[in-house]
Amino acid sequence: MLEVGGLGYSYAGAIAVRDVTLRVTAGEIVALLGANGAGKSTTVRMIAGALRPQRGRIVFDGQDVTTAACHDMVPRGVALCPEGRLVMPQMTVRENLLMGGYTQRDRTARDAAMEEMFAIFPRLAERRGQVAGLMSGGEQQMLAIARALMSRPKLLILDEPSLGLAPKLVRELFDLIRSVNARGTSILLVEQNARQALRISNRAYVLEKGVTVREDASEKLIGDDAIRSAFLGA
Ligand code: ATP
Repeated sequence: MLEVGGLGYSYAGAIAVRDVTLRVTAGEIVALLGANGAGKSTTVRMIAGALRPQRGRIVFDGQDVTTAACHDMVPRGVALCPEGRLVMPQMTVRENLLMGGYTQRDRTARDAAMEEMFAIFPRLAERRGQVAGLMSGGEQQMLAIARALMSRPKLLILDEPSLGLAPKLVRELFDLIRSVNARGTSILLVEQNARQALRISNRAYVLEKGVTVREDASEKLIGDDAIRSAFLGA
């Protein structure tokens, strides 16, 4: 579904991503691990069309989308839920979701997508008329994910979804990610919480200084000594 080869990106001369190669097969959850500043966010922003790669190639569904912008990637089926749950704080839950569904001109389809989100995220259903900025961090994160799902993506990219959430909510969040995947959405997951990310993913990549240095089945990486000491605190 997604094939990324030799990606590179520099911010004003400072190299952020040097050589990233990865793939996501339909149906998978793929984790992207790495220390702070390894280039994870820059990588997923390029895949989602928010940054234009300076090197390398991105192919999605057999089409070269290396230079495609976000507004082109969303209709193709790629949605990014960026780091920092950027929901619109003055807007209600419902209004935030409607913004995520802007690609669907058909109102019935949009309403159906919203009802589906309320089924997956019951807490959002209870708060549909509430202003997003007054909700808890966990609820805002759920809203950010639901908003990205409103475009019915084939590939959902989540950038650090568990950041700043209490442990109980983190577990709930990972269960939700799994259930979104079980409904047929492939997932590329950037996470600091490597243990949880490896638990729910099929495969994972490790990024070091802008280079993909490892790729393996997640269950193998969980048991790997180098991964354990670098990411799992063991
Ligand atoms: P984190 O987990 O801290 O978000 P990351 O692995 O996602 O890290 P990136 O955010 O992609 O890494 O950052 C990679 C490098 O690029 C870092 O050195 C960072 O300081 C730099 N960088 C990121 N965004 C910008 C920007 N807008 N302008 C300049 N440098 C940037």
